[in-house]
Amino acid sequence: MIKLKLENIQKIYSNGENVTALKNVSIGFRENEFVSILGPSGCGKTTLLNIIGGLDHYSSGDLVINGHSTKNYIDRDWDSYRNHSIGFVFQSYNLIGHQTLLQNVEIAMTLSGVSALERKQRAAKALKDVGLEKQLNKKPNQLSGGQMQRVAIARALVNDPDIILADEPTGALDSKTSLQVMEILKNIAKTRLVIMVTHNSELAENYSSRIVRILDGEIQDDNNPLTSSELTDEPYKKTAEKSTAKTSMSMITATTLSFKNLLTKRGRTITTAFAGSIGIIGVALVLALSSGLSNYMSTMQADTLANAPISIQAGEQTLDDNSDDFFGNTNKNTASKNGTDDTIRVAEQTKEKTTHTNVLSKDYLNYIDNLSSELPEAINTITFERNVKMNLLANTEGRVIEFDPTIESETGMNDMMGMSSNSYWQEMPDNDEFIRSQYDFVGTDSRLPSSKNEIAIVVDENNSINKTFYDKLGLKSENTTYELSDFIGHNLLKVIYNDEFYTRDGDLFSKATPAEYTALYNNPEGELLTIVGVLRMKEDLDSGYFSEGFIYTSDLAEAVAENANNSTIAKTQSSSDTNVLTGLPFTDKKMKENANQNLGADISPTNINIYPTDFDQKESIKDYLVNYNNNKS
Ligand code: ADP
Ligand code: MG
Repeated sequence: MIKLKLENIQKIYSNGENVTALKNVSIGFRENEFVSILGPSGCGKTTLLNIIGGLDHYSSGDLVINGHSTKNYIDRDWDSYRNHSIGFVFQSYNLIGHQTLLQNVEIAMTLSGVSALERKQRAAKALKDVGLEKQLNKKPNQLSGGQMQRVAIARALVNDPDIILADEPTGALDSKTSLQVMEILKNIAKTRLVIMVTHNSELAENYSSRIVRILDGEIQDDNNPLTSSELTDEPYKKTAEKSTAKTSMSMITATTLSFKNLLTKRGRTITTAFAGSIGIIGVALVLALSSGLSNYMSTMQADTLANAPISIQAGEQTLDDNSDDFFGNTNKNTASKNGTDDTIRVAEQTKEKTTHTNVLSKDYLNYIDNLSSELPEAINTITFERNVKMNLLANTEGRVIEFDPTIESETGMNDMMGMSSNSYWQEMPDNDEFIRSQYDFVGTDSRLPSSKNEIAIVVDENNSINKTFYDKLGLKSENTTYELSDFIGHNLLKVIYNDEFYTRDGDLFSKATPAEYTALYNNPEGELLTIVGVLRMKEDLDSGYFSEGFIYTSDLAEAVAENANNSTIAKTQSSSDTNVLTGLPFTDKKMKENANQNLGADISPTNINIYPTDFDQKESIKDYLVNYNNNKS
């Protein structure tokens, strides 16, 4: 039976100039089948899906649903259709970070007139159906990508819709989890119509019952079109519509769940969204307006992306079959269409584990530097990490002690690997706007550090910092309360340069001893640091760019790296086969590298993090990065 039919659908976006996203598309869909829509970026896939789902309206033609034309649909009819017949699944999950999985699924029913108890039961059942019955009370940030996508599917299913629309549901997943999600969708398609947009033709071929290819807004190929008998013999059976009663959640549900659509859809949809919600019960308005829909949406996107930079690490990388590859591509099978490259990948894959070495050459670093000018819209910020150790002294409560900002991990892994990535001492990205979007300033005169001698403190949402941090600073007195004014404008820390901090002693170097700290702190060499601000993560953010502790400018990092690079100890270490601090020989290359990096003999970046502005831009950044390797042996 035919579920849906598009007849000569045309979609023209007109804001300033006209863009024809769909040209005369005619296609029918069966009641239960699994349709994959393939096509290059920008060809109109999302537009097609949005029109089918009633999130966007066609410019001309007709969308026939269960034999009914939608030409005369008014907003209320569209609302009803969206709420009762359609479930949406997006690439970016669109889960609400501070709510549990159960609540995330319940929200889809919040306003469809279902009692609270039934909502809970149905949400729990839907989560069970996707294999998450044990995680009902977890929050999204405790889940893997594949699990989050399963929550999104549960949410789409909970209203028992006839049609599931999925826009690149596996776009952010690795190949193994993609398969799990595809299995679930395939299962759903036994009793419903599933239409999925994907870039991955292999998944489409393996799982779907029909593949439709789109190019420039037109259907180019359909490998299982409706037969002429299906089209003519099957009279549209006018089944009773599930319900055309007023639906209270109206457009709000749909738009909340698809903020990405809303963001790209400019004026008209937003107006419709709010027009559609006038007259609905108070709670919907409260939900949308009090939390500030647009504010919520942009925070959520920034929130997710702050934790998901594209990272490029120097040196040898080992990948197992599950992990992202080194360009952040999640599916190695489709990562490359380049002939020679393919053959290498096949060979590598048979080994299960693959290794490669990232060489962050000057040329490559320049290429990364150009990203900001090549794709200005795409980049929030780029950070370059180095392993140069900073020698820090803290002057608190009348004593000078060494400040070791490393956060000891439970496993001791950091120490073992010579990394200091978990630290109360973090470099600021060179993008004040990005930081301001995530943090508020606490206290009068509180501001961001702007020079090498300025630092700030990052506190959590309760204005607190964990006790270890205070202990490390020497702020030990149990009975003392500190005021903000004890910090802002004050000096607490000083960076001591290598030549002052390390003294040569025959073939070896030794670190300054505690007895020498006060003199070092008071001598004019080094960088005395002033605390100029206290930053607090914005309330609606789940996790920000920084963890609690101090933040310093890249100016300071540069100055310290330059200085360390010219220090006697670095120069000596650079040409020595033993560790100049311990006298022990290096047993492998990695140990020597670490020593060189720590002391400043090697100040090239060890890690590059690229923070994209949104999910679509992340793709264009990946493309740019992949291009670097084109035509290289
Ligand atoms: P795909 O999903 O295949 O990547 P889309 O359906 O998102 O493609 O977009 C198809 C075309 O329509 C593109 O040229 C895109 O720029 C344009 N387009 C999409 N949404 C809008 C909009 N709200 N305003 C103007 N143009 C748009
Ligand atoms: Mg799209």
